[in-house]
Amino acid sequence: MTISQLARSIGESPTLKMNEEARLLRERGESVIHLGIGEPKNKTPFPALLSAAAKLNTGDIKYSPTDGIPTLKKAIVRHTEENYDRLVAPENIIVSSGAKQSLFNIFFALIDPGDEVIINAPYWVSYPEMVKMVRGVPVIVTPEDGGFCPRLADIERAVSSSTKAIVINSPNNPSGVMYSDEFMADIVAFCEKRNIYLILDDIYHKLIFGKRKWSPAYKFTDQDVESSKIIVVNGIAKAYGMTGFRIGWCIAPRQLVEVMTNIQGQITSCTALVSQAAAEGALNGLQSVVEALRLSIENNREVMLTELGAFSGVRCTPPDGTFYCLPDFRAYNGNSVELANFLLQKARVVTVPGKDFGMEGYLRLSYAGSVKDVTEGIARIRWAIDPNAPSDIYIGDRKMVRDWM
Ligand code: PMP
Repeated sequence: MTISQLARSIGESPTLKMNEEARLLRERGESVIHLGIGEPKNKTPFPALLSAAAKLNTGDIKYSPTDGIPTLKKAIVRHTEENYDRLVAPENIIVSSGAKQSLFNIFFALIDPGDEVIINAPYWVSYPEMVKMVRGVPVIVTPEDGGFCPRLADIERAVSSSTKAIVINSPNNPSGVMYSDEFMADIVAFCEKRNIYLILDDIYHKLIFGKRKWSPAYKFTDQDVESSKIIVVNGIAKAYGMTGFRIGWCIAPRQLVEVMTNIQGQITSCTALVSQAAAEGALNGLQSVVEALRLSIENNREVMLTELGAFSGVRCTPPDGTFYCLPDFRAYNGNSVELANFLLQKARVVTVPGKDFGMEGYLRLSYAGSVKDVTEGIARIRWAIDPNAPSDIYIGDRKMVRDWM
């Protein structure tokens, strides 16, 4: 079989791969705990279901405008006004099949072969692969202080005459950290001065803990949406736990939205109509569902941090948001792929290797599941790798004895 060089260079999504492995183990009757999951466990909010059902009841499910149905766009205009303090026009919005497609559209619209895109480690796994798909060059910037927050000085050093865009994802998948307002103000000013697009993946902006407050990048510019270098991506997947509906959107200058609409029109024609109706229902419905979800995740986060505290060798930067954390497991094993496989085989716990996020020696752990998943999952990990943990444990109804230390 002949496969293009480019296609061969694109890696499998490690998170989806782990999901598949867990599914196969579960099918064999194994008691698997999934700390790799990238979606909340809540049920779809009722207004979303009602809106989707009403659309289905019409029996009139046809193509929709490529850039999204006007009523959903109207809901996004309001969402943007409420969350970003910016009044945008419907022409500044394009609805896509998930934030993932929005990001791909942006890269496709902006990048010529060889153009560079700066991505801050730890980063979401799909950014580098998407940049490669459009024949761009991902330039990974790792904070020199060993932390999870990018520093402008490190980014400045990585910028070249080929730099087209910088991607910022805060709160961040996989670390859960949220970048400071000072950094956000600096990076907005820097991009405007240097004429570099600033792509903001804000998909986790509603899932923030404690007293931390998220600031939209627009807060740090005087420029309007048309002239700003800021491009915003958001969606319903995380805040409403509506991952399966596949709705995301992008807010950008009109000219860019027009180009992205052409691109999307040639690839998917439009986003599924029933899903757009569901998204409209979620955005227009009672927003207390988002707060309920946030609270349950915040509770899980506390449990996760307490449980991780039992490991003498594991260091974890407390997450400010999302439903992930990225603890440092180097005291046990510096090879995160090896460690994640070991944990799946011995303890039947799914984790995602930090290597895939540009942080070798770390594991991404999700607390989007239940409290029981978190406590049992961490107990199993401790049992598997920590010599100070008791040497036997129940996995499902089987008593297991650790015999490898
Ligand atoms: N950005 C980030 C940082 C994500 O973690 C995800 C989902 N894992 C996405 C975008 C994609 O979101 P969607 O499901 O809307 O495509």
